[in-house]
Amino acid sequence: MKCPYCGFNDSKVVDSRLNETSGVTRRRRECLECGKRFTTFEKVEEIPLTVIKKNGEREPFSRTKLLEGILRALVKRQVDREKAEQIVDDIEGSLRNEFQHEVTSKELGDRVLKVLKEIDKVAYIRFASVYKEFKDLEEFTQELEKLI
Ligand SMILES: [Zn+2]
Repeated sequence: MKCPYCGFNDSKVVDSRLNETSGVTRRRRECLECGKRFTTFEKVEEIPLTVIKKNGEREPFSRTKLLEGILRALVKRQVDREKAEQIVDDIEGSLRNEFQHEVTSKELGDRVLKVLKEIDKVAYIRFASVYKEFKDLEEFTQELEKLI
């Protein structure tokens, strides 16, 4: 890391702090030549994951969107936000491991449903009703009956 004051090419790290939320590490460095201190920010480059929708459109995978969908399904259920975030982490992790760059929205939705089915049946039905776009009450009832 080049010193912004004298241009010397070597410095030592005197303090290092990771911001858990943003994933950014802030480093305080000291120039080995002039002794002045400066700050650098470091972040791991994320490999983009693309979601292919039913109509063939592509959009970047959004953690926020997935989390919001899950939280909507969990409204007034006995599952807290932390658990919901953990579900998102698990799903994102498994998708990145198995698919690397692209995943269909069906695969993504199916994974959420699988997890919700295990932890909360009501949330499962809510998510399914949005995701599977039940066409009528009958279809919805069928899905309910499968669960009961
Ligand atoms: Zn310097």
